[in-house]
Amino acid sequence: MKTIQKKVDAQYPDADIIAQAAQILQHGGLVAFPTETVYGLGANGLDEAACKGIYQAKGRPSDNPLILHISHIDELRPIVRDIPKTAQKLMDAFWPGPLTMIFPKADCVPDTVTGGLDTVAVRFPSHPVAMALIHKAGLPIAAPSANTSGKPSPTRAEHVALDLNGKIDMILDGGTAAWGLESTIVDVSVTPPVILRPGAVTKEMMEQVVKQIAIDPTLLQKPTADFRPKAPGMKYTHYAPKADVFLVQGDNFVDVINDLAKKQKAAGKKVGVLATDETKVNYDADVVLSVGSRENLEEVGTNLFHVLRQFDAWDTDVVYAEMFPLSGEGLAIMNRLQKSAGYRVIKSE
Ligand code: AMP
Ligand code: MG
Repeated sequence: MKTIQKKVDAQYPDADIIAQAAQILQHGGLVAFPTETVYGLGANGLDEAACKGIYQAKGRPSDNPLILHISHIDELRPIVRDIPKTAQKLMDAFWPGPLTMIFPKADCVPDTVTGGLDTVAVRFPSHPVAMALIHKAGLPIAAPSANTSGKPSPTRAEHVALDLNGKIDMILDGGTAAWGLESTIVDVSVTPPVILRPGAVTKEMMEQVVKQIAIDPTLLQKPTADFRPKAPGMKYTHYAPKADVFLVQGDNFVDVINDLAKKQKAAGKKVGVLATDETKVNYDADVVLSVGSRENLEEVGTNLFHVLRQFDAWDTDVVYAEMFPLSGEGLAIMNRLQKSAGYRVIKSE
């Protein structure tokens, strides 16, 4: 398959290009498009065969459900059975934006979208290209991240092309995704609502609007053999570059990483360090890449997946990564880092 690639203005996308992409979606095709979180791989969310195409292109396990994307609040009602009060409050506060909510599903939503669950995940993105495309297609658009399953999510069109060129119909290139980590997922079908995946809309932000928000205990822990995740995606390895990633904990992490790097280099390995602006000059390794300043976790979120992919481009064998606080945006960053490291943490002192 030849993949059409078109540049679009992120604020004012060309109407002809959006119309072409919308037509592909209406005919059962696959279109990758930018959102404010990461690039999504879209298909008609009411078309079983089109959604199967998403799983095939990504190599995604069929029990890991998709998120339906809408472009107006009125498009929610037809795809869900119930809109709980807490969901209404969260919608009023954070939609359009990087928040996905889990609702009881309506009959029109195919099992392929929900992985056979009785619930459906829904998001109303705020990116002008995503909004224009969904609106023009006139359909709920099923869209997981537009990467090969298991790899870091794409934050640039070139990441999408590297993974999916020749496997999908079209890529809309709208530049770098601003937030850079996937949406927050919150299950509003239970009381209190539970965060299943941390993201840009933080627990602290949601607690300004609803009384209590719980966090799924498995967000930062390795799933056990009998683990039954609420978000099926939680049980799969994720965000992993080819290198072995280790997180390094403790106040003297710079010294610890330098010691480890020295040993690995002596063993003939190419060593990478995932550093920050504050520490990057202090490392002695083959590839030292900063994810940004510790003072600006939003910037760290934007850069994280690109930096993880860069370690692949540099062919590193092993990567040592710094850690971040678990509050605010730090929770989303640590959740992705833990998964990319397969939960391997080296504790110093
Ligand atoms: P991604 O494609 O990478 O954004 O993945 C979408 C995420 O949403 C995955 O982690 C899914 O497991 C999760 N998800 C989708 N639908 C549901 C649902 N009905 N209940 C719980 N999690 C869901
Ligand atoms: Mg994904």
